[in-house]
Amino acid sequence: MNNEKSSIVSGFYKLPVEKRVEFVKNFSNLTNDEAKLFSSSIDIEITDRMIENVLGQFELPLGIAVNFLINGKDYLVPMAIEETSVVAAASNAAKIARIQGGFKTESSKPLMIGQIQLLHLEDVADSAQKIMNHKKELLKIANAQDKILTELGGGAEDLEVRIIDSPLGKMIVIHIIVNVLDAMGANAVNTMCEALAPMIEELTGGKVRLKIISNLADKRIVKAKAVFDKEKMGGEKNVDAFIESYTLASVDPYRAATHNKGIMNGIDALIIATGNDFRAIEAGAHSYAAKDGRYTSLSKYYKDKNGNLVGELEIPMAVGIIGGAANIHPKAKLCRKILGIKTAKELAEVVASLGLAQNFAAVFALSTVGIQKGHMSLHAKNIAVMAGAQADQIDKVADQMVKEGKIKLDRAKEILAK
Ligand code: NAD
Repeated sequence: MNNEKSSIVSGFYKLPVEKRVEFVKNFSNLTNDEAKLFSSSIDIEITDRMIENVLGQFELPLGIAVNFLINGKDYLVPMAIEETSVVAAASNAAKIARIQGGFKTESSKPLMIGQIQLLHLEDVADSAQKIMNHKKELLKIANAQDKILTELGGGAEDLEVRIIDSPLGKMIVIHIIVNVLDAMGANAVNTMCEALAPMIEELTGGKVRLKIISNLADKRIVKAKAVFDKEKMGGEKNVDAFIESYTLASVDPYRAATHNKGIMNGIDALIIATGNDFRAIEAGAHSYAAKDGRYTSLSKYYKDKNGNLVGELEIPMAVGIIGGAANIHPKAKLCRKILGIKTAKELAEVVASLGLAQNFAAVFALSTVGIQKGHMSLHAKNIAVMAGAQADQIDKVADQMVKEGKIKLDRAKEILAK
């Protein structure tokens, strides 16, 4: 389906909203009702079931990043985000990446870690041994909790025991490793952890305290790679400037935080659009960025033998297409259909490619023209609206401010007054 259609569209941003919807409808074979969903609110009864004390809904703009070629397949990528320039930057980066073949990805099995904290032990080493001796039975109990998952080929696969020094003395943390297939996995894993607690206490005489998934999903890793064409980047001098800029993120946590924020601009937008848990993804990403004891860049860049820029992103990606809000929120389901993805693995690979595209776009802008130029035009429109501009006044006030290079609320008010 989607792989027969191209996601390259030039001037997509200039089209009126209806034309953009029509393009996406055709690309992703949406029904008329699905296409209408873009401009309608979801049923209040649905949101009332999702969280507590519901009053209504909070809307974010939903845009589409175009031009993405990932593992030889074309994707339109839905992004729910409030920040200007992010969608345009991703589309532009994807256009540059596809010159040299687009994004290539690989990912591990969807293994999540559940933690069981065990304290008040008389003999920590002996307790650890007892748990390991009963690994098979423990895994059996875990798997008895989720027949659907095990019947589909997933479930608890392994168990590890860690002894940790703490201000309270030595404690044991048991890790249960679960193949969660197409789910994010938190509910599935948490249920297993809770089910194991009584047997672990019985075996060791200790006290189980925490029983919960770890968001440092370092056994569920996705890697995305792309070659960014040096000519399209304006020559090898810009590739060198890029690498100089990137290098700071690789050695300095102050820069790495902002560098990784740029990656998450793209990632969170797609995570939200597909009804996934962006806090879980954020926690996983940043803890993984500090896994070697110092917070650093999640991506890396180098030059290939032809002088092109190679970018790589490696990140934990606990995303699901089953469970959570992914199957409840109508727009999340719609976004999945737009993507044409069939598995959580495929979604994870698109997410990582988008993160790399976003990161490339930000560092490229920073290392050449600076970030404000790209931000300027939509930012100017927002300032014009804040100043009270309406309808065609918005573009006029914004254009004038961009021309003057002075995008300020007081200036917007002055222009409006004139
Ligand atoms: P879930 O329990 O709603 O759905 C997963 C279940 O769906 C599986 O256990 C399985 O029984 C079934 N299933 C059917 N087909 C499947 C398939 N093909 N692959 C996998 N499972 C299949 O959801 P979940 O993914 O276990 O939990 C996700 C939710 O948990 C999110 O909403 C998240 O916000 C929330 N949560 C997160 C944390 C955390 O990150 N620390 C903690 C608690 C809850």
